[in-house]
Amino acid sequence: MRGLTMDYQLTLPAIARRAESIFGERPVVSRRADGALHRTTWSATLRRARRFASALHRLGVRPGHRVATLCWNHERHLEAYFAVPLLGAVLHTLNLRLHPDELGWIARHAEDRVVMVDASLLPLLETFRERAAFRHVIVVTDGGAAPPGTLDYEALLSSGDEAAEFPEPDERDAAAMCYTSGTTGRSKAVVYSHRALVLHSMATAMPGSFSLGPADVVLAVIPMFHANAWGLPFTAALTGAGLVFPGPHPGPAALLELCHTERVTFSAGVPTVWLGVLEVLDACPGVYDLSALRTIVIGGAAAPEALVRGLEQRHRLHVATSWGMTEIAPVGTLGTLTPEGAALPPAERHALRMKQGLPGAFLEMRVRNERGDVPRDGLTPGELEVRGAYVASAYYGPDEPGDWFTADGWFRTGDIATIDPRGYLEIRDRTKDLIKSGGEWISSVALESALMGHPAVAEAAVVAVPHPRWTERPLAAVVLREGKLVTPEELLASIEGRFPRWWLPDDVLFLPEIPRTSTGKFLKSALRDTYRGHYGGA
Ligand code: ADP
Repeated sequence: MRGLTMDYQLTLPAIARRAESIFGERPVVSRRADGALHRTTWSATLRRARRFASALHRLGVRPGHRVATLCWNHERHLEAYFAVPLLGAVLHTLNLRLHPDELGWIARHAEDRVVMVDASLLPLLETFRERAAFRHVIVVTDGGAAPPGTLDYEALLSSGDEAAEFPEPDERDAAAMCYTSGTTGRSKAVVYSHRALVLHSMATAMPGSFSLGPADVVLAVIPMFHANAWGLPFTAALTGAGLVFPGPHPGPAALLELCHTERVTFSAGVPTVWLGVLEVLDACPGVYDLSALRTIVIGGAAAPEALVRGLEQRHRLHVATSWGMTEIAPVGTLGTLTPEGAALPPAERHALRMKQGLPGAFLEMRVRNERGDVPRDGLTPGELEVRGAYVASAYYGPDEPGDWFTADGWFRTGDIATIDPRGYLEIRDRTKDLIKSGGEWISSVALESALMGHPAVAEAAVVAVPHPRWTERPLAAVVLREGKLVTPEELLASIEGRFPRWWLPDDVLFLPEIPRTSTGKFLKSALRDTYRGHYGGA
């Protein structure tokens, strides 16, 4: 027997209708480039999003077409978050921290037809525009003129029709895409369906997860080009939470000021952001009123113990840890306590909270080694695999190898983890040969091959070393050719320009040899262990 339920599509337009009709008065606040605050509401934002959708349609954007953004976090970027999926097109947020070569490759691979860009980021766009195939460039200005050959965002919006209607997308159609290098090497495209984003929003909105509602004011610290700012714009619209955006001012003092003036209740971000915030709080006690701030989520990399203790004990803030991946939309777990966990003695309770926590609704986890599932004893590590309603089933593109997806329908995360008898995940290590600095990936393989291109270098290995501020920074271990000499500065200067500046190793060590595995590969784990303390972050 089939259920007699309407075939209601779980789409972003459905979320937009809910926010507009029920939570229209809730605030959307953005900091402009000049520091001023721009205040609007969900209903005004979504009306403008409808105008933008109609203007994009007039430009020839049709369902399935990709519309790129190259923007900071602000309300006009939020308008694109809804406008593009409203007309059935696909929102593609470009990561402004990537090298122009990578950005050009990504925009071409995604076949982006249109790009929306902040005026301040036009110089960056120019570095890769030739390599992409944009038909239109839409410029978001703060009052100045858009350059010739581009379209002014506000002028375009005023040509749009707020009442234009578009067919409801199918819930399995693509709504958004993000590129990640979080597995290995070259960026891979993750394509989110409407349904996946709606169910991810539902799962993160729930009590036990972010627990968001209309009384909340969410500070969107995670860049909107990074896994849709962890889905917070969609979750806020679904739940009626207000949204606050730092614009092009993501520094800790500016964030604290927004928490204070906007009575922010919830925020989430990578450890580097909160380390900066803690530093300012310690330096200026009592300056910021954070009494409304009920939860800070720290994720994207392991939360340092001293950070959690500092925020909680010195500043009476409540912290929750989280694990996630772009491939899972991206929030996977949250370190909240069940009543049984909360009843544990303080030391055990703290240890449980420092784990990455319990999976969200509609997400399942298993940990396996070469013999199959490992016991859920919190001790036996293996590779973490996940499946669920918002987990990627493949990477987009014809040439993507499928080896991250198992034959029985799980996604291999490349993270090494344990699961304890209560179901709490703990990330121990990763198999991915990458460095995560300040929440963004650096490819060790790309750095190694560039270093090995130097005539004085015989071998080079680049490893992630714990760092007190950036969580990890790259360290290069180099073996020189017989009779050759080069300084670390000369070596780094030789590869500069091919990578974003922040990719360059902080130090280069010259070694007589690089330790190897029995099969002759670099034994990077040995290097990581030996130099753990090199940057003072172990
Ligand atoms: P995001 O940074 O949004 O979580 P990415 O796809 O860029 O997403 O990175 C995902 C990877 O980051 C994970 O596979 C894992 O290696 C690492 N990671 C994320 N959260 C944590 C965490 N809490 N502890 C340790 N590593 C984490």
